[in-house]
Amino acid sequence: VAKRLEKFKTTIFTQMSTLAVKHGAINLGQGFPNFDGPDFVKEAAIQAIRDGKNQYARGHGLPQLNSAVAARFREDTGLVVDPEKEVTVTSGCTEAIAATMLGLINPGDEVILFAPFYDSYEATLSMAGAKVKGITLRPPDFSVPLEELKAAVSNKTRAILLNTPHNPTGKMFTREELETIASLCIENDVLVFSDEVYDKLAFEMDHISIASLPGMYERTVTMNSLGKTFSLTGWKIGWAIAPTHLTWGIRQAHSYLTFATSTPMQSAAIAALKAPESYFKELKRDYNAKKEILVKGLKEVGFEVFPSSGTYFVVVDHTPFGLENDVAFCEYLIKEVGVVAIPTSVFYLNPEEGKNLVRFTFCKDEETLRSAVERMKLKL
Ligand code: GLN
Repeated sequence: VAKRLEKFKTTIFTQMSTLAVKHGAINLGQGFPNFDGPDFVKEAAIQAIRDGKNQYARGHGLPQLNSAVAARFREDTGLVVDPEKEVTVTSGCTEAIAATMLGLINPGDEVILFAPFYDSYEATLSMAGAKVKGITLRPPDFSVPLEELKAAVSNKTRAILLNTPHNPTGKMFTREELETIASLCIENDVLVFSDEVYDKLAFEMDHISIASLPGMYERTVTMNSLGKTFSLTGWKIGWAIAPTHLTWGIRQAHSYLTFATSTPMQSAAIAALKAPESYFKELKRDYNAKKEILVKGLKEVGFEVFPSSGTYFVVVDHTPFGLENDVAFCEYLIKEVGVVAIPTSVFYLNPEEGKNLVRFTFCKDEETLRSAVERMKLKL
């Protein structure tokens, strides 16, 4: 394997989902719903295939999808962007992340990352040859250590990678935190790469896109996708919104990574993004109910549960159960209890920092969540 990928193992999500199947465990690990996306979107995909929309799409996206993404962004943030020049459709947000790193980062560039972080960030930064600096968000509230951040940002910093609502903790960056990040970026001429795939799963506060803060649009890449909002994680439709000078780099990388994204799924994505407001309200209401079941259950089981404001994840401290670290705890949980969670140590530059924490997801039907809680009550 190439040196730049040597330290990365099979992703933790693949490892844990494989174990879930092997041990017949209830999978509250990898974040994918065990229910389907809405019929009107699925029908749109089937119709697109029947209508012969099956050849390569335009590289940076079907024109109507670029427009639908821009319209959605305008509704969500008030920002008016040019769908032709500032929106790039990618194969999921994961490709948007890769294309952003590979298209805008030079070897040796310094990039700041908040730990714990979604595992693909570090791997794609490594592919781009970036020098990674981590700022750790700590329980119970995972707030940004602002002084530490100020000390870390300099004119050597090329970019800050942001993720709000935040996987795995469920933390949402507050306006104050975003404003501090913004002023540091403006002062030091730093870019922001902002992964906002959980923006529609914001329960305790309103989601804020950092691109909407004064002076930030011109230095921000905002990334999102269809997967979480429409419970279609397997469709892999995502996008990056950025001013033209940044879009150029993203599109160059995208052109040679995947060239274009699945045509019929893009076609269906147009229909999805035109969903009525009621769809988003209902999604949030459903997830709120699921969250309540899981959070209440985990507390009754005896975990220390950290507050999650957004995403479909919640992080707990497993140490009341006496296992030596997060990986040992997750192994025990799978084999002896029959439930899968994600150990968080893989989401840190220094794995020690995550050894007390594991992540559960509540993107499962209510009965599955209840059964998982029952198993844990019985056997932990
Ligand atoms: N984003 C999802 C999670 O964090 C899954 C990603 C993946 O499987 N690579 O669980």
